[in-house]
Amino acid sequence: LFDVLVVGGGPAGASAAVYAARKGIRTGVVAERFGGQVLDTMGIENFISVKATEGPKLAAALEAHVREYEVDIMNLQRASRLNPGELIEVELENGASLRSKTVILSTGARWREMNVPGEQEYRGRGVAYCPHCDGPLFKGKRVAVIGGGNSGVEAAIDLAGIVSHVTLLEFGDQLRADAVLQAKLRSLPNVQIITQAQTTAVLGDGSKVTALTYLDRVSGETQQIELEGIFVQIGLLPNTDWLKGVVELSPRGEIIVDERGQTSVPGVFAAGDASTTPFKQIIIAMGEGAKASLAAFDHLIRAA
Ligand code: FAD
Repeated sequence: LFDVLVVGGGPAGASAAVYAARKGIRTGVVAERFGGQVLDTMGIENFISVKATEGPKLAAALEAHVREYEVDIMNLQRASRLNPGELIEVELENGASLRSKTVILSTGARWREMNVPGEQEYRGRGVAYCPHCDGPLFKGKRVAVIGGGNSGVEAAIDLAGIVSHVTLLEFGDQLRADAVLQAKLRSLPNVQIITQAQTTAVLGDGSKVTALTYLDRVSGETQQIELEGIFVQIGLLPNTDWLKGVVELSPRGEIIVDERGQTSVPGVFAAGDASTTPFKQIIIAMGEGAKASLAAFDHLIRAA
């Protein structure tokens, strides 16, 4: 039996676990893969007070910090069901079930990928998913943004101020972003918008990206664009399928939280990329994890 059971071992979960354990209460962490998205990240330059680090290094530091405390870490375990109640039950895929007075959901999210040849090979070597993180690496270079929704158009506007040229590729016949964003994008001199474009391959020289190809869905011809970077902005998918029908989710599948990280289920809190909190970043996930943990502690002392 736990006082606080954290589901997810990324920055949000690690932060929540440390904050809970420092209150001297029984704390557990269930993680499918401790470290989360940070494990897949190369350079990190916006984790404030650390000028530059690497994902695996930060992931190891997260785990080491949690292990400083009496926290029961259950790594390589996937939660499959949450049962609300006086004591909240979390079922694991391996058949076990855990009970806790409060639960913090921090299962994160994953970027939707294009699934085209070259994307995996050049991930982190020209193929990027986070403009806030990797935009400055492409200063003065040519990039493409894939996706004409709000996140793609925001990324293109953001990048246009840093890079020399942005090509925005949209699969459909028009952009899907808000009108104000589209107007802003069209006002920028170094942006080209191509609709009806289906990205077909990422090309490179073996060490970094050099071009991409796309199918012009009107003419049926394949076109090539020479560039140094490709930002894929076709959706961020929260890892919340297992919570459907139990915890209130937004239309995008994000766990709806209030300003204290409280979800629709009493005693259940959420933090990080899996929640409705805007701007998916490590430092934000950590802050939200700390906040959810303090809110869970507050809930415990009021219930006692
Ligand atoms: P995650 O890191 O996604 O962690 C989720 C955790 O939950 C993992 O442990 C996962 O295994 C676990 N989990 C998921 N489902 C289950 C389940 N059912 N049961 C049990 N466990 C589960 N941000 C920056 O600030 N700076 C950067 O430079 C940066 N670069 C990035 C580069 C890349 C390639 C990517 C993909 C992301 C980058 N980000 C960066 C974003 C950053 O990694 C995320 O915002 C951050 O990791 C979110 O933390 P989180 O704890 O909410 O979720």
